[in-house]
Amino acid sequence: MKQQIFNYLQNQEETALFLQKEMVGIPALAPENGGTGEQTKAEFIRTYLKQIGNFRIMDLPAEDSRIESGERPNIAAIINGRDQDRTTWIVSHMDIVPPGGSELWNTDPFTLYQDGDYIYGRGVEDNHQGIVSSILAAKAIIANSVVPCTNLGLLFVADEETGNKYGLEFVMNNHPELFGANDCFLVPDIGNSDSTLLEVAEKNLAWLKLTIEGKQCHASTPNKGTNTLLVASDLVLRLRSLYSSFDKQNEMFKPPYSTFEATKKEANVPNVNTIPGRDAFYLDCRILPEYDLQEVFSEIDRILEDCSNYYNAKIEKEILHSESSPSTSPDNDFIKKLMDSIQDVYGVKASPQGVGGGTVAAYPRQKGFPAAVWSTLLGNAHQPNEHTSLTNTIKDAQVFVNMLL
Ligand SMILES: [Zn+2]
Repeated sequence: MKQQIFNYLQNQEETALFLQKEMVGIPALAPENGGTGEQTKAEFIRTYLKQIGNFRIMDLPAEDSRIESGERPNIAAIINGRDQDRTTWIVSHMDIVPPGGSELWNTDPFTLYQDGDYIYGRGVEDNHQGIVSSILAAKAIIANSVVPCTNLGLLFVADEETGNKYGLEFVMNNHPELFGANDCFLVPDIGNSDSTLLEVAEKNLAWLKLTIEGKQCHASTPNKGTNTLLVASDLVLRLRSLYSSFDKQNEMFKPPYSTFEATKKEANVPNVNTIPGRDAFYLDCRILPEYDLQEVFSEIDRILEDCSNYYNAKIEKEILHSESSPSTSPDNDFIKKLMDSIQDVYGVKASPQGVGGGTVAAYPRQKGFPAAVWSTLLGNAHQPNEHTSLTNTIKDAQVFVNMLL
């Protein structure tokens, strides 16, 4: 049966090409990126799924008044398995990022261009490849009358590139009835070209804005003011102590420790001879899952208070974004099965590892589900001349089906 399905998939290049061509021609941009959302692309996917047949299809739209249709589409499509209490979900996102300067592209980003095994266009890698591989896997299962060991659930979500509020986060919070206690999640949206990168953990993420209020004055009389650039500079250095306060190591991550980096700095005064009375800068923290974010925030508060007292300046901390993500154990059955399947198809041993943070796998993990992010990607998402390989698309589909036999 396995060989029969592998052969079937090897002959699906035309299908992959057709799906990619249609989807590249439907730019699905979020309102934040000046677009009208994912509705047209979702309709195309839904119509195609209905043609293959045998799915239970559910629409899970999230209200969004900023766009004409008033909603951001999410679609679940399920094929029943032998164990119907358990669903293996493959999650891909329909939205894309803007193409960027057209002078950087060799071809039109919204017209698919093929050069041998490679296809070019905005979205082909991020995340059309995941959409296509998962549809091909389902198509192969249906066409060969296979009953997978668990249900296969395809989940096509909106809003991945701009925060997930109308996408997977919405679906998981508002449709808990879809998910059974033993479900697992595969997200084909990160990967490397030799198929070995298997993401099972993320660092906790926190973005902070630190604003310092001092007293502006003429640069010739610094004694009459409080120089906020001086305070900010000292504070940036004081915050380096977070590296030693939270210095645990975890070799699953690269780098294997938590990071606390000052990044953006807002403009202060426009002229040289004024001492600034207000400064703001930002701190990007990627914290190993061994630590609780609250512990880190308390330590940051302590540093701010010391610094504030020393300079007699007001320092305010604003948490712009924070996200905790428990990890999935590399020993989890689902991860082992996925690794075996990758080994079977690609002949390589994938290595479970952690990344800096920011994939949709955080949402199922927060609800206690095992989740892996894996696919075979050339790694040019968001770049001009985004391209991907048809062979990888088909082989990834083989990995998905193989895992469900
Ligand atoms: Zn993506």
